[in-house]
Amino acid sequence: TTVIEARGLTKHYGTTVAVNGVDLSVAAGEVIGLLGPNGAGKTTTILMLLGLTEPTAGSVRILGKDPLRQPLEVKREVGYLPDAVGFYETMTGRENLSYSARLAGMSRDQARERIDAALAKVRLTAAADRPAGTYSRGMRQRLGLAELLMRESKVAILDEPTSGLDPQSTQDLLALIEQLSRAGMTILLSSHMLDVVQSICHRIALFSKGRIGFIGTVEDLAKQI
Ligand code: ADP
Ligand code: ADP
Repeated sequence: TTVIEARGLTKHYGTTVAVNGVDLSVAAGEVIGLLGPNGAGKTTTILMLLGLTEPTAGSVRILGKDPLRQPLEVKREVGYLPDAVGFYETMTGRENLSYSARLAGMSRDQARERIDAALAKVRLTAAADRPAGTYSRGMRQRLGLAELLMRESKVAILDEPTSGLDPQSTQDLLALIEQLSRAGMTILLSSHMLDVVQSICHRIALFSKGRIGFIGTVEDLAKQI
């Protein structure tokens, strides 16, 4: 089944054409990478997939829904890790997750169980009771993944999840993303680094000047370059 379907997605900012006729189909269980230099239109595409910004033209279906018409349903099922993840800085990692669990309508017992499991999976158990404001970038990214795990998001959309991380933290985070994939999550991530998408993505969409110039497997991409 198709989880994400974008047709002719286009976004103009004044005279800037940020995204120009992007077609994209992502199947359930796929890990797809949006690869391209800064300014190529990856973030704008992601914002349109989530319904956070309205396309100038084109349409999106995500889990069969129109994110502009059914924003709450989409928000409930689609986890989003922006480039700079926002947490309540003075609240602990655990409190941030508990709050999110309450908003999602989870019972206390269910929340506690899921939060403990998610924190363990991302190896934040020891830091769980420190304010999120004291976390390193890698820890913040892991807390973001813990939130997606806890909420059992069906789809995860990750914008430059490894940017600003050292090589070891990058490898750690990619390994965690692979675990989410093995657990059945459909994953779309963006990066300007070939190594990042190459290591975990089933398919890569190469962005350039608002368009997808190539889409295919890592092996097919290697033949192109
Ligand atoms: P990427 O994520 O690949 O770096 P973006 O989607 O952020 O690319 O940007 C694509 C183009 O759109 C760039 O030229 C960028 O400057 C422009 N752009 C992005 N967001 C805005 C905005 N809110 N207002 C004006 N221009 C924008
Ligand atoms: P619900 O829609 O399940 O009632 P909310 O949409 O209010 O809950 O979200 C609760 C918290 O979960 C938010 O504070 C936010 O941190 C996080 N969240 C919700 N939707 C997303 C999403 N699509 N991507 C990332 N985080 C999300």
